[in-house]
Amino acid sequence: MEHYLIDSHSHIYSEEFDKDRMEVVQNAKKAGVKRILLPNIDSTTVDSMLNLSRKYPHDIFPMIGLHPTSVEEDYLHELQIMEDWLAKEKFYAIGEIGIDLYWDTTFREEQILAFEKQIDIAIQHQLPIVIHARESFDEIFEVLDRKNTPELKGVFHSFTGSLEQARKIIDEYQFLLGINGIVTFKNSHLPEVVKEIDLKHIILETDAPYLAPVPKRGKRNESSFMFYTARKVADIHQTDMKTISEITTDNVQQLFKLPDYEH
Ligand SMILES: [Zn+2]
Repeated sequence: MEHYLIDSHSHIYSEEFDKDRMEVVQNAKKAGVKRILLPNIDSTTVDSMLNLSRKYPHDIFPMIGLHPTSVEEDYLHELQIMEDWLAKEKFYAIGEIGIDLYWDTTFREEQILAFEKQIDIAIQHQLPIVIHARESFDEIFEVLDRKNTPELKGVFHSFTGSLEQARKIIDEYQFLLGINGIVTFKNSHLPEVVKEIDLKHIILETDAPYLAPVPKRGKRNESSFMFYTARKVADIHQTDMKTISEITTDNVQQLFKLPDYEH
């Protein structure tokens, strides 16, 4: 396989993969997706995530964080558990964190507070952040405007916003855009946005088991399918897979400070 891709956001530690997780990792390698980053959800997912990353310490890398849809009254206790983990294990990012006002707005204030606190933790530990934004760009931008420092790096994962929002993310915060299977969907406006964005601001992801790209749309997503997303982005930028994989892989390696890849 010529190319070397990294799936920067995949939940293959989740129970959807309990029956064939090892096969899914092998499929990814065969498809040229050689490394995978695992975003955490909450205190209940850390063990299964670490079980997987410990099996592949050179290729699969864990993050730690509290997902906005898991933020409830007890969020401070959850955040304490995240900090306890950070004290004893190596993690490559604080994620996924952010604000989600699509599923539920009950804990809107708590979501904002948990997001802010996790940005502080990221800055303190010199880790990048992986942002989940759903119906919440304004709220997230407001927090970032308050918290932004040049040291804070990160990515808007599963980016589906407008060109204006993309430019703001790149120019004002120097964050990257995480592009997944949505870019292959019929009627998606994302190709027009991606076309205008320099590849140096883009990383690729699956968000498996969700959002499988065409021609696998509707199926359980897995890291090997990221090949289709990479090819679509190559088409949009009228370039080849080699260029896409070199640039986006470099972007991921730098953002998450991954160890050098041994070929
Ligand atoms: Zn995710």
